[in-house]
Amino acid sequence: MPDRSFRADEQILLIDRKKRRYLVTLAEGGEFHTHSGFIPHDDIIGKPEGAPLRSTRGATFTAFRPTLSDFVLKMPRGAQVIYPKDLGPILMLADIFPGARVLESGVGSGALSMTLLRAGAIVTGYEIRADFAARAVKNVLAFGGPELAEHYRVEERDCYEGISEESLDRIVLDLPEPWLVVPHAETALRPGGILVAYTPTIIQAVQLRERMVESGFELAETIEVLHRGWNIDGTSVRPDHRMVAHTGFLTHARLLPGQ
Ligand code: SAH
Repeated sequence: MPDRSFRADEQILLIDRKKRRYLVTLAEGGEFHTHSGFIPHDDIIGKPEGAPLRSTRGATFTAFRPTLSDFVLKMPRGAQVIYPKDLGPILMLADIFPGARVLESGVGSGALSMTLLRAGAIVTGYEIRADFAARAVKNVLAFGGPELAEHYRVEERDCYEGISEESLDRIVLDLPEPWLVVPHAETALRPGGILVAYTPTIIQAVQLRERMVESGFELAETIEVLHRGWNIDGTSVRPDHRMVAHTGFLTHARLLPGQ
């Protein structure tokens, strides 16, 4: 059995009694400070996941390795991220598979990149802002490990001006005017390739769909994903009072062979 206890230099999630979550990078000699004292990192290093921890002033915490979803919600962000509720469905709509050659633009904070890479894709990202590109690479490698660099490359460039890659399997877009990418996607994707675009507003989705009508894309669909949590506590069994009612729309389509 491999040793799965916590090591120095890895990122962990500390959860307090009120279920508040903190992303912490373990360092020998480091300390995690809270309102109720601190926990020396050396108390955590060498412990297994889920082990109970106690701060110097008696507050209890539990430590886990962050899931992809935990990490996306807690990592340092430049741009707004796509939320886990949409990241999972994007993998299905784009039909991401191990070894798929994917172009992603814009890259933002890298939440979608991590998700695509985890499903085995080989990702080229186009990001117009150098600071976001650097942040995304940092986040992706922090979560997935340095070996992911073999599968992930981000170029600082404007996706509206064209795509240099050829015979791509998939293109996944999260930028303001995805319809401007449609003509480039028609030549960069292989026949049968899939385009998916995330757009916060329905006007953007409609504009994209209208541009697709006169293109080589077929089987276009636009969906939104509603995610409603439930409170299950004794006899109080009901939907949560609060929910994230809106994030964005997902539009997907497949490319036909050129005439
Ligand atoms: N999907 C990302 C968030 C992307 S935010 C995530 O999950 O983390 C949108 C990004 O698109 C921003 O970083 C913005 O700089 C970038 N962008 C906007 N227009 C662009 C363009 N024409 N070409 C490339 N990137 C662009």
